[in-house]
Amino acid sequence: MVTVSDYFGSMVFDDRVMRAKLPADVYQSLRKTIDEGKKLNPNVANIVAEAMKNWAIEQGATHFTHWFQPLTGITAEKHESFITPSPDGSVIMEFSGKELIQGEPDASSFPSGGLRATFEARGYTAWDPTSYAFIKGKTLCIPTAFCSYSGHALDKKTPLLRSMEALNKQALRILRLFGNTSSKRVVSSVGPEQEYFLVPKELYDKRADLRFTGRTLFGAKPPKGQEMDDHYFGVIKPVVASFMEELNEELWKLGILAKTEHNEVAPSQHELAPIYTTTNVATDHNQLTMEIMQKVAVKHGLVCLLHEKPFAGVNGSGKHNNWSIATDDGQNLLSPGETPYENAQFLLFLCAVIKAVDDYQDLLRISVATAGNDHRLGANEAPPAVISIFLGDELTGILEAIETDTPYLGIEKTQMKLGVNVLPRFTRDTTDRNRTSPFAFTGNKFEFRMLGSSNSIACANIMLNSAVAESLKIYADRLENVEDFETALHEMIKKTIKDHKRIIFNGNGYDDSWIKEATEVRGLLNYRTTADCMPHLLDQKNVEMLTSHRVFSEAELYSRCEIMLENYCKSILIEARTMVDMAKTQILPAVEAYTTEIAKSAAAKKALLSDFSCTYETGLVKNLSEKVDEIAARTDELEAAISGLDDVGDTIAESALIRDTLLPKMSELRIPCDEAETLTAKKYWPFPTYADLLFGTK
Ligand code: ADP
Ligand code: MG
Repeated sequence: MVTVSDYFGSMVFDDRVMRAKLPADVYQSLRKTIDEGKKLNPNVANIVAEAMKNWAIEQGATHFTHWFQPLTGITAEKHESFITPSPDGSVIMEFSGKELIQGEPDASSFPSGGLRATFEARGYTAWDPTSYAFIKGKTLCIPTAFCSYSGHALDKKTPLLRSMEALNKQALRILRLFGNTSSKRVVSSVGPEQEYFLVPKELYDKRADLRFTGRTLFGAKPPKGQEMDDHYFGVIKPVVASFMEELNEELWKLGILAKTEHNEVAPSQHELAPIYTTTNVATDHNQLTMEIMQKVAVKHGLVCLLHEKPFAGVNGSGKHNNWSIATDDGQNLLSPGETPYENAQFLLFLCAVIKAVDDYQDLLRISVATAGNDHRLGANEAPPAVISIFLGDELTGILEAIETDTPYLGIEKTQMKLGVNVLPRFTRDTTDRNRTSPFAFTGNKFEFRMLGSSNSIACANIMLNSAVAESLKIYADRLENVEDFETALHEMIKKTIKDHKRIIFNGNGYDDSWIKEATEVRGLLNYRTTADCMPHLLDQKNVEMLTSHRVFSEAELYSRCEIMLENYCKSILIEARTMVDMAKTQILPAVEAYTTEIAKSAAAKKALLSDFSCTYETGLVKNLSEKVDEIAARTDELEAAISGLDDVGDTIAESALIRDTLLPKMSELRIPCDEAETLTAKKYWPFPTYADLLFGTK
């Protein structure tokens, strides 16, 4: 029998393969590049390329590609075959170190937000040896970064790697202050939990909104929704089970540690969580997971919806970014240790995160901002758009005790200067219960819950790593030059708690009173939409922080702001046009046909029974006719709003106009259409309903 361990990672050029296929010195040299970020010598690259090619051919590969993550949010690849003609008319399979290290895809069609003049169409891709190459289909995929010729990042991986480097540098400075001389690197890790919906493909195909926009733009509430909570962790249906089985196999072959899967709260909604790994690899793996989910679903007659809010009134899908930082020798820096000194170090890292999240609330909000996720943040299943940190009572109590110089009553032993003795061990259970917090401490990691299901996790982690690097830098700058380390440390922690405790909130994040308190009393930010938050990417404090750690150049930030707003505008515009189209060509004709049928039937009845009143028919015809008029009028209004966007020009202004005019008009059009759906005979309704989609999977 074939077991998982027989094929796990079989399509990955991982450490096992490298060790087996590379000469010992080459292997050592490559490992140094992977583990310590050392530059790779070109001779080594040639030998690695040869071994990689031979291994790939043995696995049936014929092509290779530099696999990268342009700012479209999905991955890109351009396949090239290994074949090179030889003089005798045959071919040989070649792949050089140069081809491994650098590629030159035509970059002109990828978004650059003005970074790349059109004459400079050729961006280049550069191998990222910290993420293993893998085979997908018949193609060897080499994870790469993607830059313009002038060196500007055109992708999400480059700034992510830079942010990991910034965090490494600053965290090591802190560790040295605590007497740690052995750790060589500090790395951030992530385990992203991925939510998604599965719907029958034959039904999906009948809905233009799902096909063009990934979400339903119309649809009345079904008689049954998620109110019974009978789907969460429920029995998995056979077709879904076979989808999950194949998905796991495909992911395991790629070395992706898919670990848990279950039904989510909404009908037809599911979740997959992998075991955590370094942020960079986790990002690559999450992109691959989303791609493979979609491919495997189709093989089972299903479509995997990764949109954040495919169905109004039903829970949307998010992604929980479980994030921690650890040393290369295995110390989790967010894990309270066994001794007071370790505790002090833990508290300092904890404070660094608290300060980072408060100082850069805007960047975290921006990092998850898309038109799709705007529907989710602030609705009552996802965290609100206001960022706060959940720490749990124990940890909050300890911080309060430090702030006020009072003993923490939870611990009886004598106090050291820092005000803490051995901290209690934080078990998952005492801290993980709050599901409404956007940013929750869960024992030895933070769970950032605002990401949308289709987001690349790169953006959130770029901002998180950078902001925490900035706090650590401020701490290190101060602490490296003091005489009395312990006193300075104590003061620093106290000051952080005083200055930033407003961001800590252990209550219910869905409560309206919280939003009021957060914004009016605590002064926290509440950017409800992408159009609201995105321009703040360019606020001076943000530009200064991100450029000082060399995560982004100023030009890169401008380009990203432009691209993100452009995406926002384009996706809403496509939705608006799809609505107009569906209203005109499907909904209006259907309602009209049904109205005519009822009117005809009333006329027929009247012909037969001349004194019969036809109350039902008359009422219905009147009602439906009013709906038809309303739908037609609102469709016209939406069309006019679309035309109104024609010559706005500037993306910031356009996105604001879309937020203020287009989105409200879209909601207004939806109302009479959904009402008409509830009045129209099912056989007349032109596309599958919510009930069909949500409960249609066998
Ligand atoms: P829950 O649904 O309760 O949040 P899951 O078990 O579904 O929990 O997901 C937890 C995720 O957190 C998994 O991906 C897991 O690998 C990850 N994780 C666990 N420990 C760490 C850690 N130290 N750093 C980062 N991620 C972690
Ligand atoms: Mg979770």
